[in-house]
Parts: sequence; C-alpha cells; structure tokens
Amino acid sequence: MSSSQSDGRFADKEQALSLTMVNSDRALRKLLGLSVASLPPPAPMPVLCCAGTAKTRNTQLSETMTQQPFWKTKTLAEMSNAEWESLCDGCGLCCLNKLEDWDTGEVVFTSVACKLLDGDSCRCKDYENRQETVPDCIQLTLKGLREIKWLPPTCGYRLIDEGHDLYWWHPLVSGDPETVHAAGVSARGRTISEEGMDVEDLEDYVVDWPLKVGSERG
Ligand code: SF4
Ligand code: SF4
Repeated sequence: MSSSQSDGRFADKEQALSLTMVNSDRALRKLLGLSVASLPPPAPMPVLCCAGTAKTRNTQLSETMTQQPFWKTKTLAEMSNAEWESLCDGCGLCCLNKLEDWDTGEVVFTSVACKLLDGDSCRCKDYENRQETVPDCIQLTLKGLREIKWLPPTCGYRLIDEGHDLYWWHPLVSGDPETVHAAGVSARGRTISEEGMDVEDLEDYVVDWPLKVGSERG
C-alpha cells in the first residue's frame, strides 16, 4: 500500500483542528446533524454495505444479456436486493476516511482506509461481522444514498440515482470485477490503514483522486 500526501488545503493547524473525522455512521450524523436515535432505521428496501458484495453479479449479468439491463429500466426503488447489491462496483472508496470542515461543510477524502478494508481487493476483510469491529459502518439505503453528499461520482448508486448510465468498467457492464481496478477508479494500492493513526494526522493524507473519473485520475 502507498500513502498519499496532503494537498495542502488544511495546512493551517487551527483549521485542521476544526475538522472532524467522518466515516460511515459518524459521518452521516455529523453531516446531517442527526442524533443516533434519529438515524434512519433499517429500511425495508434493499440495502448494501459498501465493499462487501459481488456475489450476484454474474447471475445478474447473464440475466441481462438478452434484454435491456435492469439499471436502465428500473428505478433504484424497484430493484431487487440482488440487483441493488450488484450496483456496487467494488471500488472501496466509501471505506476511506473523510474530513469535514465544520465552517464550510466541505468534505474531503483521505487515503486512510477503514481498518477492515483490504487495500488490494478493496473488499471488507470481515464483512459478515464488521459491525462488531466497526459499529458505525454505514448500511447504504436509498434514503441514505440521497442524504450522503460525499459518495464519489463514480459510485454506481449515485450514477443511477442521478440518471446516468454505468461506465464501461463497471462489473455489470464488463462482466469482470477487475475492470474497476484496471480503469484506475478504485482505491487499490492507494490507501494506508487507519490502524494506529492519530486522527489529527488525517489531514496529511487528504487526496482528490476519489472525486475524479477515469483518465482524470493520476
Ligand atoms: S463508493 Fe459506491 S460503488 Fe464504490 S464501494 Fe462504495 S457503495 Fe460500492
Ligand atoms: S467495516 Fe470498513 S471496510 Fe468493512 S464495509 Fe464497513 S467501512 Fe468498509
């Protein structure tokens, strides 16, 4: 894994201290000003926790070979659990720590990943039991998707919700879960674990590549 350097936007220490680490549930609370009790309850609609699901993609792909793909004909709310889950491209970007500027509300990504993220596969190392280790890991729902403002522009959920098509490298389109990495739009090889890191040091790892698409990325 490689660590990334700060882009210098938070060089001022006072400003840095006004930032808060945002990740998963905590991020949602900070960003929305909600209390724990007011967070959305588990939704009856399909849910997904990032970086954890790819098992249904092949099935979905074969089903879509002879007809219009489901993501072009259904709204997110109309999708089955399997269809919803398959929209995750496995980029791992939502498992990166974010920083929020309390004054402006701006959220920036860092290259510091959740301790359970495998920096190579970009998958959760203990998806089934992740809540025991990372209790505030977000479970993405349709409602949550529209409230979270920091999802990367390449995220399959965000693309479909905003009326766009999936990119060629999305596993549903390419049929290959590796293309998201080959296209350079995942976190593979670019992260450092949060384990043992002081929160105040996160500002040194601010990066902008999670916000870029395809060839724009360095
Ligand atoms: S950012 Fe979106 S597509 Fe990427 S891992 Fe997270 S939920 Fe999946
Ligand atoms: S526990 Fe961490 S690595 Fe696993 S899905 Fe949640 S944020 Fe991602």
